[in-house]
Amino acid sequence: MTEENTICEHLEAIKELKLPLKHECSECMKTSSQWVHLRTCQTCGETLCCDSSPNQHMTKHAHEKEHFVAISAEPGERWLWCYKDELFAEY
Ligand SMILES: [Zn+2]
Ligand SMILES: [Zn+2]
Ligand SMILES: [Zn+2]
Repeated sequence: MTEENTICEHLEAIKELKLPLKHECSECMKTSSQWVHLRTCQTCGETLCCDSSPNQHMTKHAHEKEHFVAISAEPGERWLWCYKDELFAEY
């Protein structure tokens, strides 16, 4: 049986969090697009926009580069998300 708080191998592999260096989506900045929330990739440290944003740069990044784990880059939010397994974990 799976427990409610089961985490995947990707989330388990995160030992140290990569925190956002800038509070902006690096892709949206290139095209002067708008974003809603920001996420920081835990593989390369890039900060990109979330699924509620028009361009969904973090989702694209996760699947194209296979960088599956991102954290919320929003102040006060402390959670990780795995795009492959669609799993959420708080820290
Ligand atoms: Zn995973
Ligand atoms: Zn973006
Ligand atoms: Zn990445």
